[in-house]
Amino acid sequence: MSSDLWNKAQAVFAGGVNSPVRAAVKPFPFYTRSAKGAYLVTEDSRRLIDFVLGYGPLILGHAHPKVIEAVKDQLERGWLYGTPSRAEVELASMITKHVPSAQKVRFVNSGTEATMTALRLSRGFTGRSKILKFDGNYHGAHDYVLIDAGSAASEFGVPFSQGIPTEVSSTVLVCPYNDLTCVETVLKREEIAGVIVEPVMGNMGVIPPEKDFLPGLRKLTREYGSVLIFDEVITGFRLGLGGAQSYFGVTPDLTTLGKIIGGGFPIGAVCGRKEIMDQLTPSGRVFNAGTFNANPISMTAGIATIQELEKKEVYTVSERAARVLAEEIDRAIKMDHVVNRVYNFFQFFLGVKDVRNANDARKAKRDLYVKVHESLLKEGVFIPPSQFEALFTSGAHDDDVVNESARVFKKVLEDLT
Ligand code: PMP
Repeated sequence: MSSDLWNKAQAVFAGGVNSPVRAAVKPFPFYTRSAKGAYLVTEDSRRLIDFVLGYGPLILGHAHPKVIEAVKDQLERGWLYGTPSRAEVELASMITKHVPSAQKVRFVNSGTEATMTALRLSRGFTGRSKILKFDGNYHGAHDYVLIDAGSAASEFGVPFSQGIPTEVSSTVLVCPYNDLTCVETVLKREEIAGVIVEPVMGNMGVIPPEKDFLPGLRKLTREYGSVLIFDEVITGFRLGLGGAQSYFGVTPDLTTLGKIIGGGFPIGAVCGRKEIMDQLTPSGRVFNAGTFNANPISMTAGIATIQELEKKEVYTVSERAARVLAEEIDRAIKMDHVVNRVYNFFQFFLGVKDVRNANDARKAKRDLYVKVHESLLKEGVFIPPSQFEALFTSGAHDDDVVNESARVFKKVLEDLT
């Protein structure tokens, strides 16, 4: 039973969990026993339609047969060599083929490591020390990005984490999302090494970039000699094979990837312009290393996942699911609200009329969102327990799943709003 596991977990884990958002499911999190396609099965033998999908990686749905087959085959041949392997070359070739900015790649083990490395690279390459980020963007759990951070950092009231030296935080400047005037003011005034941005904000709910925002960032960073970093940990291979940079037609200098490229196994990657990437050790003097970098299991799962994505059907199905559900949700909510969707991920905000930056998202009725989450869960639909996350769809979210979910969303939202 989930309740028994939760009781034990509280004794051994801070706050009962190993990643904070999991504790936002009240009164205690359900524990998952297995998962297949669009469904989770809990330790209490409940079957839930899943719109969390591991917080984004599982674009093929859970336990996809092609990924199982590839990983099983790799397991038989060993899973950690401490040497390079064929799979890392194949996965990197797929990334450089599809992602416009990717001339070279470095594999790491999480999105956190990817942004940490990309920011260090931007400092090493430019010889400058300051970074510009955006309020509510989340780039992982390292020191340089837990400043005005979204996602669980905002959900749990710690957008500024304790334990970060002021020597570090004073090198990080912050602008509101979609605010180019602020960006220009900062770039003019300060020597900025790198500007890091989620090309679609997916960590304060979903907030799309306004038409001029990404092209404006590209223009300004060129003008002022800063490295432009797109954090595509969520959007990479989600908004199509070329990620947000293809979707919006703006090519950054560096890109961070994670989530989907590992097919649901731990991964991160930094990729980008050759002359910047070549600053990494061993060719350059910006250090990065890792026992598990490019581990064969994550590489193999990533290859199998991208091979499926190259067939395009997963994009058609996941986009249709997100579109139909976002429309259904929009129709069902009776109060002021916003539904922000970009292709195959979305979020809804209650009691507000416009959400274009983190401050707007903070004004939404979060208590009511949580009530909606709880009611949906009772009816067998799992959406993120936090307003500051996104709903994801996958290739397994077919018409049956969508119709069943739409019925539940309609009932719950008409009831509560
Ligand atoms: N960047 C973005 C945009 C993310 O959404 C996340 C995680 N949700 C990260 C970085 C950090 O990735 P990880 O959790 O793999 O460290």
